[in-house]
Amino acid sequence: MIPAELIEKKRDGIELSFEEIDWFIHNVMIEKIDDCQLSALLMSIYFNGMTDSETKFLVDSMVKSGKRFNFNHLERYVADKHSTGGIGDKISFILAPLLSSFDIIVPMIAGRGLAYTGGTIDKLESINNFQTRKDFDSFTKQINQIGCGIISQSSEICPADKKLYSIRDLTGTIPSLPLICSSIMSKKIAEGLDGLVMDIKVGNGAFMKTFQEAKNLGVELKKIGNYFNIDVSITYSNMSQPLGKYAGLKCEIIEAVDCLKGIGPDDVTQLSINLCADILVQSGMSANKPEAKTLLIKNIENGKALKKFEEMIVGQNGDLNDIYSKNNFAKNLIKIKSKKTGYIKSINTEKIGWALVEIGCGKKVISDTLDHSAGIKTNYKVGDKIYKGDTIYELFGFNKTKLKNAKKMLTKTFIISEQEKEREKLIIE
Ligand code: URA
Repeated sequence: MIPAELIEKKRDGIELSFEEIDWFIHNVMIEKIDDCQLSALLMSIYFNGMTDSETKFLVDSMVKSGKRFNFNHLERYVADKHSTGGIGDKISFILAPLLSSFDIIVPMIAGRGLAYTGGTIDKLESINNFQTRKDFDSFTKQINQIGCGIISQSSEICPADKKLYSIRDLTGTIPSLPLICSSIMSKKIAEGLDGLVMDIKVGNGAFMKTFQEAKNLGVELKKIGNYFNIDVSITYSNMSQPLGKYAGLKCEIIEAVDCLKGIGPDDVTQLSINLCADILVQSGMSANKPEAKTLLIKNIENGKALKKFEEMIVGQNGDLNDIYSKNNFAKNLIKIKSKKTGYIKSINTEKIGWALVEIGCGKKVISDTLDHSAGIKTNYKVGDKIYKGDTIYELFGFNKTKLKNAKKMLTKTFIISEQEKEREKLIIE
């Protein structure tokens, strides 16, 4: 086969066969196809899309490029969650141990911050000594022993996705629906899952700003799941305000622990329980969601979920004392106060995300170092009454100058109106 010929076919809207896609990906991985040729194919896909068959073929080739976990011998349901990213999203740290407390296997492969959204792996690395990089064999061992874990994508798992993602990032081809879906699903398939819950975020702090965009993604992901025998349940959740009170790095781990203790913010707990309930129903452990939710709350109240969390942290060399230490919040603190009394009408969540990047919870350039102690506490939700002089945000972190810059960014992120405002619905569908 000739790379240019396949690129031309895709450019001209002709469907590629399995053999053609597989050959192309294989040759990218053995460096027989240049980055410029891969870029051209990706751009052709960006403009022409992919048929369902092409998308499945691409997923298959990406999975085959690396190793695939198999936990069949454990005779347990194997499940995971994927979120499309948001501000204050700490659900993974609750969901993995909570499901694992029911003996569901959760081998989670998570990502780093993307644009203005926080990264699960960056947050975990705020825990002293926590190992997010584990090779295939040692992660398999951890899952066999503990039942859950969260690691970053290594070169052993879907290396073709890693390669494609890096080129997409440089060529303006990230926002292609079939490329996004195949990237997400190839990693989930490589985890050896039976079931998956997707938390597709919608709103001003999400990548999907409208419900229709979110729905399109959901439909495509479900199709791929069906083809690869993974039961996919989808929740469309609201990201028009930060999730929970804290957004940042270590502060999110601490808030997740609060949820596992049953004392966390309502929205984070509700969403975690909702997503876990889908898995309990999928696995057949519960007949319906209300029953599943009762069981899940019980495992929070009896401490089983927290115990699993601790096992997972220790299993990845993390220092529990560091999480439970009283001195976890940065010393430098800036408060932003309301200049008037009224109701919170809206919150510009994406801008809060960029303020988090400014204070070191995300990277502006690859060489930036993260400030694990940094974060923003939001004291009000849309619809809350606020009085003049009340503190709406608290910013904390290591670097005072960055905190001051972020303060400027945050002053225009909320609108207060005299009229009462309805609260945002957490779960849209
Ligand atoms: N997350 C992924 O893993 N891949 C994408 O392409 C987008 C989000």
